[in-house]
Amino acid sequence: MKKASLPVAHPLLDQPEGALDRYVALLEEDQALRHAEYDQPDPKRRRLKVSCNQCTTPWCCNQRVTVDLVEALAIYRWATVNQPVALGAAIARGKDLRSKPPLTDSEFFRRRVTCPFLIKKQCAIFPVRPHRCRTHYMGGNPMKCRDELAPTETYEMSPDGQLLAELETIAEDVKFQNFVTDTRPTELSEVLLLIDHLVRRGPFAAPTVVDWTVVE
Ligand code: SF4
Ligand code: SF4
Repeated sequence: MKKASLPVAHPLLDQPEGALDRYVALLEEDQALRHAEYDQPDPKRRRLKVSCNQCTTPWCCNQRVTVDLVEALAIYRWATVNQPVALGAAIARGKDLRSKPPLTDSEFFRRRVTCPFLIKKQCAIFPVRPHRCRTHYMGGNPMKCRDELAPTETYEMSPDGQLLAELETIAEDVKFQNFVTDTRPTELSEVLLLIDHLVRRGPFAAPTVVDWTVVE
């Protein structure tokens, strides 16, 4: 992966030291375990069906993607260097969503609010994509994903609970060390908009809820 050299600096992107690098490394480890799960399945267990491998139109990228602050920070840091245009589009999308009445998950999906990082049917931030995007699988007909928000054949695959716990610990450490008590909202492009505002401000001196008040 290309090494990030950010044109902006903020403790959120550095503290605790190495946290974002560790987070991304764990995401990759988690992904490798998942690949092993369906590429080399344990013969004693039922083989998992993953139709996503043949899917050419990821309708699931029309769903609202909720992220933790740490995930959005890793994406922001990576995309600033590697996908600045797509990141700008995502931030613009965050502003657009913010200017309109909030949508339910179902409305979001029905209106085909496609993820701004989906470019030519490919994820432009694939190496750092959110955990939710990595763990969502379809075991049946991919076309059902076009018409239904949550087809019964979709499932989540998270092979290693210990690894998930470590990801969670890093997410909490990043918040704790930076006095962030909560993040609202949690939709990917809206959190990126918040981060974009935050990196232009100094560190927090007191416990803070990262919400729209930081944008005003
Ligand atoms: S979840 Fe459905 S739409 Fe998404 S990649 Fe898999 S098959 Fe395609
Ligand atoms: S981040 Fe990538 S995988 Fe996730 S919804 Fe957006 S385009 Fe799809």
